Amino acid sequence: MFKQYWQTESTRWSDWRWQLKNQIRSSSELAQIVPLAPERLAEITAVEQVYPLRISPYYLSLAQSSNPDDPILRQCLPDGAELLLNDGQPDALAEETHSPVPRLVHRYADRALYISNKHCAVHCRHCMRKRHWCSEMASQPSNEEIAQAQKYLREHPELREILISGGDPLLLPENKLHQLIEAFSAVPNIEILRFGSRLPATLPQRFTPRFCRLLASGKPAWLVSHFNHPSELTIEAAQAVEHLLQAGIPVLNQTVLLKGINDNAETLKKLFTGLLRLKIKPYYLFHADPIQGCMHFRTGLQKGLEILDALRGRISGMALPHYAFDLPQGEGKIRLEPDVKANLDPEGRQLYRSYQGKCIAYDM
Ligand SMILES: *Cc1c(COP(=O)(O)O)cnc(C)c1O
Ligand code: SF4
Repeated sequence: MFKQYWQTESTRWSDWRWQLKNQIRSSSELAQIVPLAPERLAEITAVEQVYPLRISPYYLSLAQSSNPDDPILRQCLPDGAELLLNDGQPDALAEETHSPVPRLVHRYADRALYISNKHCAVHCRHCMRKRHWCSEMASQPSNEEIAQAQKYLREHPELREILISGGDPLLLPENKLHQLIEAFSAVPNIEILRFGSRLPATLPQRFTPRFCRLLASGKPAWLVSHFNHPSELTIEAAQAVEHLLQAGIPVLNQTVLLKGINDNAETLKKLFTGLLRLKIKPYYLFHADPIQGCMHFRTGLQKGLEILDALRGRISGMALPHYAFDLPQGEGKIRLEPDVKANLDPEGRQLYRSYQGKCIAYDM
C-alpha cells in the first residue's frame, strides 16, 4: 500500500539512498500518505515530541491496509500508549552500567556488544533502545572511541565475538563501517563479528553485492536480522539474503513477541517457516522487555511458551527459535522451553506430552 504516493520509477525506489532520502520523519508528512483521523494525528504529533517517527517508504509500503491494527503500521506509527507512565524503564537491561568503555556492553564471558550508531531506517515502536533516539550520544563512534573499544577487546583475551549493533550499524557511512570492521578484526582474540541489523526487513535494498563484500571483509561475519511478521518477507528481503549468503555471511533472525502483532501460533508459523524459505534460521523469539514507552506491546511470559508448544513437532525443528527473556539489571538472558513433562504413571514412570498431546512413559 501507499507506494503510489511517491510516484517514483522502480530504479529509484530500489535505491537505498533514495529510500533514506525519502524517509518519513514527521507526523505532517505521514498525514499526507496515510489517512489519519484528526484525533489520531494529534496523538501521533504528541508522541513524536518524545519518540520521533522514522519510516522508510519501502517499510510503509508493506502495510496491507490503512487500518491502525495492520501489523506493519503498529510497528512504525506512534501510539499514545507510548507516553503512559507505568513501571517500564528506559534501560531495563542496565546496558549503561555494564559499559566499561563508551558504546561497549560486556555482559557475557566471551562476547561483547557494541552500540555503533543510533540511526535506523525505521523507528520500531517496540525498540528496547528507544532511549537513544533523542540521547546525547553522537550518531557514529569517533576514532577515539573506536580505539578505546579496540584496546578493551585486546585486553580481554577471553572475548571471542563482537556483536555490532545500534541503532542500525549498517546505516553507518561505509568508511566508518570499514574502519570498525578493520579495528575489531585486527584484535587476535576476536574470532567472529556479528552484525545485528533490522535493514533486511526495513531497507533490504542496502544489501548490494558490493556492500555484502564489505561486511565480509574482516573476521568471519554473521548477520542477525529482525523480522517480526510474515508481511516483511518480501522478494527484496530474499534478494538481500541471497547477496549476504553469496558473500559468505550466514543469516539468523530474532523476533520480538509483540501483542496484537505476532502473538499467535498461526502468524509465527508463517514467519518462521517463511524465514527458512529465505534461508534464514530463526534464532531467538524474545519476550518483550519492560521498556518505558513499549509496555503496551508486552504479552505474558506464558504466551510465548504456549505458542512454541503449539508449534513443536508441527513445523521443521529448524524453524523453531529459542524463546528467551532478559533478567533485570543486565543479569543476562534466560531461555525457556515448554514443559513437556506430565505426571508419573501408576508404576512411577515419568510421562511426557507428545506433540500430539498423548502422555507417554519414558523412564530411562
Ligand atoms: C543478547 C546479548 C548478547 C548475545 O547473546 P547470545 O546468546 O550469544 O545471542 C551479547 N551481549 C549482550 C549485552 C546481549 O544483550
Ligand atoms: S531497527 Fe532496531 S534499534 Fe532501530 S528502532 Fe528498530 S528495534 Fe530499535
